[in-house]
Amino acid sequence: MASAKLPENRWAWVEVDLGAVRRNTRAFKALLRPRAQLMCAVKADAYGHGAVECARAMLSAGASQLAVATVDEGVELRRAGLGCPILMLNESPLESVGTLLEYQVMPSVYTTDFAFAYAEKAVGMGLVGKYHLAVDTGMTRIGVLPEDVVEFRRMIDFHRGIECAGTFTHFATADVIGDWDFRQQGSRFSEAVAALQGAGLETGLVHCDNTPGTVLHPEFHFDMCRAGIGLYGLQPSETCAPRISLEPAMSVRGRVTRVVTPAVGEGVGYGLTYRVVKPNTQIATVPMGYADGLARSLSNHMDVLVNGARARQVGRICMDQFMFAQDLSGLRGYRSVSPVQHGDVVTVMGRDGDEFIGADEIARLRGTINYEVTCNFGIRLDKVYV
Ligand SMILES: *Cc1c(COP(=O)(O)O)cnc(C)c1O
Repeated sequence: MASAKLPENRWAWVEVDLGAVRRNTRAFKALLRPRAQLMCAVKADAYGHGAVECARAMLSAGASQLAVATVDEGVELRRAGLGCPILMLNESPLESVGTLLEYQVMPSVYTTDFAFAYAEKAVGMGLVGKYHLAVDTGMTRIGVLPEDVVEFRRMIDFHRGIECAGTFTHFATADVIGDWDFRQQGSRFSEAVAALQGAGLETGLVHCDNTPGTVLHPEFHFDMCRAGIGLYGLQPSETCAPRISLEPAMSVRGRVTRVVTPAVGEGVGYGLTYRVVKPNTQIATVPMGYADGLARSLSNHMDVLVNGARARQVGRICMDQFMFAQDLSGLRGYRSVSPVQHGDVVTVMGRDGDEFIGADEIARLRGTINYEVTCNFGIRLDKVYV
């Protein structure tokens, strides 16, 4: 649990283990050929973990490039002094091209309008704007269609203001082993790259594998892999778990702000959806709620850890607070339960003694994926780096 300084102003926080981020990064780097680069997806504030700190940890552990989703995310990294190549995994509004050039954030390009706006601005600024060409091989999200890549490049390449630094696609089903659609995307991408090369066009770095692709499909590593979720220690799917061992980097904790032992029949929280059923049931309050990413749909379904044991969250999760029950009426499994006290540390996600609640457990209860769970916890909680 936290050895670093806890936030002074709030009894709820996210702990990020940067050592785990570094070890996970090294584990991914070790999967690659020595010459292949590792690009780290630090979009959405590094999936809620804090973009600048995680980016530094990843670069110190062998990664060489970063990927973001928005212009502002790229600018934040540059302002923090990070000098490596940064790719924005998208186009942005035409009005933003000056900012991209000023901060040297490479866009992913797939429309001529964007390419020309970017190129012309670059010429005006006396620069050459680097970009990566996005190819849509079957996910139907962004990119030029494979059959159009050569023509697209010929339409924009005459412009001296831009330079292609990479060519990439994104897989929709990289986590499925032996998937026909995955193979189809892979061969469409390989053919598009071959067509560009055959036409004498510079592809720059060729890349397509995300976390599950990197783990399961080394034949598609090409010049670079783009890993995200795995660097934070989470598995993108059960298919990857046997292939790489990872350490979750994020824990979410708070402290108890109030404890009472209400009479049987008293209710808890909005709508009084939980009522005390046994005498000697403590109801404890933690100052963390759905505005902190603790989804309201978890109400009355999730556990928390306190003093090394599980306790049931009860009542509706509020915007800024939730309650849990500590049943002191007897034994809970083989473990006797100690009373909860004001100030006790409560673990919503992470380890406490022998007990562990992972992002996957929370995701399952919410009907979502671990990615969304960590992104959401990043919204408002203070971050403590350990
Ligand atoms: C987010 C993203 C990644 C990283 O995906 P993970 O599943 O987290 O590894 C890679 N490439 C693109 C285009 C992405 O949007």
